[in-house]
Formats: sequence, structure tokens, C-alpha cells
Amino acid sequence: MILNLIIGKMAMNTQKRVPLVAMNRLKPENVAAEISRLNHDLARRAQELAMLNKAGQMMTSSLDLNAVLATALDEVIRLLDVVGASVWLLEPAPGEGPPHTTHWVVCRAVAGEQQEVVRNWRLALGQGIVGWVAQSGQPLIVPDVQADDRHFQEVDQRTGLPLRAILSVPLQVKDSVIGVLQVVDVQVGRFSTDDLTLLEPLAAFTAIAVENARLYAEAKRLRDFNEEIVQSMEEGVLLEDAAGYITFVNTKMAELLGAPADTLFGQHWTGIAAADSLMLLHEWGGQSPENSAKHYETELVMTNGQRLPVLVSGRLLWTPSPEDAEAHFAGILAVFTDITERKQGEATLRRRNKDLATLNAITTAIGQPVGLDQAFRVILDKTLEVTNMPAGAIHLLDITKGTLSLAAQHGLPAPLRAEVRTVNLGHGAIGQVAKWSKSIVQERVVADPDAPGSAQFHGYAGLPITSHNRVLGVFSVYSHSLDHLNVHEVQLLTAIANQIGVVVENTRRAEEVAQMEILRELNRLRSELIANASHELRTPLGLIKVFCTSLLAEDVKFDVATRQQFLRGIDEETDKLKLIVDNLLGLSTLESGRLRLERQPTDLAALVQKVTEAMQLELERSVTPARHHFVLDFPTTPLVAPIDAKRIEQVLRNLLNNALKYSPNGGAVTIQGRGDKWQALVRISDEGIGMQPEDLERIFDRFYRVEDDTTRAIGGVGLGLAVCKGIVEAHGGRIWAESAPGAGSHFYFTLPMAETDEL
Ligand code: ADP
Repeated sequence: MILNLIIGKMAMNTQKRVPLVAMNRLKPENVAAEISRLNHDLARRAQELAMLNKAGQMMTSSLDLNAVLATALDEVIRLLDVVGASVWLLEPAPGEGPPHTTHWVVCRAVAGEQQEVVRNWRLALGQGIVGWVAQSGQPLIVPDVQADDRHFQEVDQRTGLPLRAILSVPLQVKDSVIGVLQVVDVQVGRFSTDDLTLLEPLAAFTAIAVENARLYAEAKRLRDFNEEIVQSMEEGVLLEDAAGYITFVNTKMAELLGAPADTLFGQHWTGIAAADSLMLLHEWGGQSPENSAKHYETELVMTNGQRLPVLVSGRLLWTPSPEDAEAHFAGILAVFTDITERKQGEATLRRRNKDLATLNAITTAIGQPVGLDQAFRVILDKTLEVTNMPAGAIHLLDITKGTLSLAAQHGLPAPLRAEVRTVNLGHGAIGQVAKWSKSIVQERVVADPDAPGSAQFHGYAGLPITSHNRVLGVFSVYSHSLDHLNVHEVQLLTAIANQIGVVVENTRRAEEVAQMEILRELNRLRSELIANASHELRTPLGLIKVFCTSLLAEDVKFDVATRQQFLRGIDEETDKLKLIVDNLLGLSTLESGRLRLERQPTDLAALVQKVTEAMQLELERSVTPARHHFVLDFPTTPLVAPIDAKRIEQVLRNLLNNALKYSPNGGAVTIQGRGDKWQALVRISDEGIGMQPEDLERIFDRFYRVEDDTTRAIGGVGLGLAVCKGIVEAHGGRIWAESAPGAGSHFYFTLPMAETDEL
């Protein structure tokens, strides 16, 4: 189209130069000359046209801006036979030009003398002839620059060229000026409108070529930029055409696949190692352009067989088709993200959670008031369950002996268990861990590889159990393979060993505290005993002393009855003293473990009868007359049990004495006996003050007394029931009480019918 335009202009040009009217007026002799001149003219124009054509082709075929401009200028100089020519382009001047100037007009190409001076010269829009043309968008013929104010002198002064005439044509694309094509000459009035007409199409070509080159450069810059982005991406990018052949892979993708990019181009997707990871995308085949993206996690197989976890973001590509307005499938774009780190992170997180859960379970379990054995069992079970290891052991150090003894184990085969039951400090792996307070992870070398089960362990980890920098023992774990004991597992085991340290330390502290408590309680009880016993002894002793002093008084003569009463008083108080002393002796015998029973088959009913009769007599003879009475309830068949009668008599005396003591208002004291072939059961019931249910358990403890005003007034040492319990249990029986305040009390004890020693 441009070419037609140019040819049109050339034709007009020719017509203008050879008007037909003028030809008519020629004389015949001049006709030949005129024809020859016209022919010459036509030939020149044809040559100009050919040159323009060539220039146009060259310019539009090249996409290199500098080459385009150089060609344009060469053609201009050749066409117009001028001193110089230049191309000036409008370039943005963001904030740096003169006021109100948004663009510079910069000389980007020059042909002719002194071109180096002029190249890159920069004028503001409106400055000089070039600036004026660029601003106005109008071509301009300046016959003599010296007569034109618009001319910018400085360039001439620099070049030293005596320029006079200028022809400037704007370079236009669509309706906007993108620059100026300018020719210069030293001859005044050198340029005519003919020259302008000739230069304009060339300017049009140049403008198009400049625009093309610029668009191309921009497109190339964008393409390079995109390519750079895609190549430098952390994700692998793979492009397939509609038939499934690979058309592009970026550097990362080639790296992920473990194959050079050029070996992958042109391959069908099914032929590459990673085909499996693309399968889902191909099978899925999103049906429409709106629904053409898919994301999934899978494993990518590299060319060397290595597997890599990846996230695939696949997209089906569609090209719009103008004919049938329906999009056509154009291929697949798949972006692969290596998610190894994320997966590892997730796995680590999962592991950490599991570890925390284990430690939590262990802490919770050992936080309960369980004994050390139970705590060790829980720790071993949990550890082995979580770490999936077959065996483990806990040794505790006895620093005075310099040995470690097996405190708990799980899964150790008998020979190995025997081998490690006691380990000397510094000996073997366990001894070394304790000695240096340092973990050991090693290949387990069993002492006897033939021992059944021993050879199955190939890995051993020993961790010191410490507390406050003191080694308390060793925590050992055995595994099927050494690999199983990796850094992570050892970390967890170390944390567990620390927990064991805490448990051992706490338990020992608790034991110490309990021991101290016991000592303190013992001390308290001893003081109480001394106070009580002194008190309880002093009363009968005081009375005995009074009776004796009275009887011995020489100045007073007592009648027989009074003397008898005094002597009964002495007898009664002596019995009380005897009971207390018997109980004190009984307790010390029981505590020292020196109680030896002298068993004889004894009829319990007869024994009870004997004791109650004696006590009845004492009651009757008592200074304070008795308001109590005994009721016996025994079967007719004798209840014969193998007992130490003297000791059981002490039991009966204590219980009956209490029944009388704690029934200050008198009443019945019933002794019931029952039995079968295994055991005899004796019950002693009173109608006394009774007890609170919470006291029932403790009254059998040494020195325990119910503390209230009544019991305080009654007095006692708190030994009777403890002695009863000791004796009954020594016989293999049981003793207990039932009572309620104010409702009397029942005391029960059993005795086996056959001989069994429980102590
Ligand atoms: P004590 O010398 O104090 O009687 P015991 O060991 O015989 O010591 O009894 C312990 C405590 O049990 C007594 O202090 C008393 O509070 C209570 N007790 C024992 N027997 C009876 C009973 N039959 N009725 C009510 N309380 C009793």
C-alpha cells in the first residue's frame, strides 16, 4: 500500500515536471531534444523509484534500529546528493528536560561529515529546525539557515560546516510524530518542493521501519524477560503440544528430571521418566477452557530412578479459533514444584508431635503417685511402643558399691538379662555410659551370640540418667538395626532418660521425706508414750503407795475389814499396772519380731469363761462397785483352735478391759463365739460410748487414741489394740471393729482352726 502511494506521488511528480501544455508550445527542432530530456528525466525517476523500492525493502526487512537508520540515510544522501542527512527520534524526557518538555529530540543516526559531533545531539521539543518540525508535525524547507531564527547555531559552530539549506520531514506513525528526517546542504536554496516530495515517502518508510524495529526490540525484550523469568524459576516448567510432544522445559525442569533439556525436546510425554507424574493430568483432561487447571501432589521419577515429591500445577492450553468460535486444545503446561522440604518439614512435625505425645504420656503416667517400678514399666512400654524397638532396660547406680543393677527391663532375652543384671561401673557399654555420663550408640556385640534371642539386636543406645549433674543410672534401648538409632531417635531417648532422672530423683526425695515423716511421727509417739505411760503408771502407783503407807502407819489401827479393802485396792491397782507393763512388753516383743507363739489346742469358750470369771471377781471386789455384767454366747460344741492361750488371753483382757473402760455407764458386755472348720470368730460387744467411723481404722495403730474429753478422762496409753492386732495376726487371724458414737462397739477377731503363721 505504501509502495502504491509512493508510485502515485512519483507519477504526480513526473506530470508536474513535464506539463503537456508546455510540450505543445515547443518548436519542432526542439521536440527531439525535449523528448531526449524527458527520457533522461524518466530514467532518473525510474532509478529514484528503484532506489526507494530497495531502501523500503531493506528498511522494512531489518529489525535492527541502527541498521534501519543507517540504510535510510545512505539512500537519502545517494538520492538527493547532499552534504549530510540525519534521523532524530523523539524520546521521553521524564523530569529532566527544560520546563514543559516531555520529550527530547535526539539524533540517533547521521551520515556525512562531522557525524560524530552531531550523533546523540539532544534538543528540546520546539528547539531548532528539528525541534520545530517534531513539535509541529509539518515538513520544513529552509533555504538559508542564516536567515531563519529557528535554526540552532550551536551544532554548526561545533561541526564547523558552512551549512545553509535544510530540508526536514517529520517521521509519522499513524497520527503521531516519532521523529524527524533531515537533509542539509552548503548551497543556499538547495531544496525544492520536489525534494520534499521525494523525501516524504522515504520518511514514511523510515517511520515504519523505526516503529517495527522498536516493536520488535520491545517484543524481544519482553520475550527475553519472560524467558529469563521462566528459566530462573524455582519451579520446573514443561510444555507439551496438542499431540503430547514436549516443546519446552526450563532449566529447573531438566534438573528435576535429571536429564539435559535438549534430550527432552521433541519426546512424547509417555516416553520420559516422569511420565507417571503427568498421568493424572492427562487422564483428567479438563473439559473446557474455564475448567482447565488442576493441582495435585505426586512423586516424580527422575531419569536415574530417584523419586521426588512434587506438586504439579497443570493447565490445559486452548487457542481461540476465529472460524468456528470454538477453542482448540493446544497442549499442556505443567509446573512442578519440588516439595521435598515441605514433606520433610511435615514428617518432622509429625514425628515431633509423636515425640511430644510420648513424652506427654510418660510424664502423665509417672505424674501419678505410682511406685518407681510401675513408672519404669510405663516408661519402657511407651518408649518401645513409639520407637518400635524390641527391648529396653533401666539400670540404677549404687555409688557406694560401684555397680549398676537392673531395675526394669522389657524384651531382654534371659541370657542377656542375666548378663546385665549387675554391671560394674566402667564395664561394658552400660558401665561406660554411667562412668562417663555420656550416651553411647553402637553396634551391639553380644557376649554369647548363640544365646537364643540375643543375636537379634544389632543396635544399642545407652543414655545416662542424671539429675543435678549426678548420674543415677542408665537407660538402654536395643534395636534390630543400628540405622534405627538415628540422631532423631537418640534425641527422643535422651529426653526420656531425663524424665527417668526426674522420676528417680522425685521418688528418692519422696522416700526421704516419708522416712523423715516416720521418724518424726515415731519421735512424737515416743514422747506421747512416755507422757501417757508415766501418767497411767503414776495413778495406780500413787494409790498403792497410799494404801501401803496407811497400812504401815503405826499410830492408826485399822479394823480387819478396812485392811482388807486397802489390800484389795493394792491388788486392783497392781493388776492395772501389770496390764500396762504387759502391753508395753508385748509391743516391744512384736516390734522386735521376737514373738514366738506356743500353740496348744485350746477351747476358746473355756478360755473366755476363765478370763471373764476372773474379771467379774475383780469387778465385784473393786473399790468402785461394778455396774457391768458379762454375757457369754458360745456354741455347745467346743471351739478348739491351735493358739497360744496366754497371748489370746491378753487379747481378750485388752478387749474386755476396753469394753468396761469405754462404757462408763455400765451395761452388758457380750462375748460371742462362732466357728467352722476353717476359723473361729469371736465378737466382743459393749453398750458404751462408741466411736466415729473414721477412727475405726486407726485405733489399731500404736499409741492411737480417740481424742475427746470423755476418752481423756478415762485415760489410756493407746497400746492395747495394737498389741491385740499383733497377736491375732501372728496367729494368722484378723481383727476389726464396728461402732457408732453412743451406740456401743463390736470388736471382732478370727483365729484359724489350723496352724498358720503369718509373721
Ligand atoms: P487405750 O489405752 O487408749 O485404751 P487402746 O489401744 O486399747 O488404747 O484403744 C485405742 C483407742 O480406741 C482408745 O483410746 C479408745 O478411744 C478407742 N476404743 C477402744 N476400745 C473401745 C471401746 N470398746 N469403745 C469405744 N472406744 C474404744
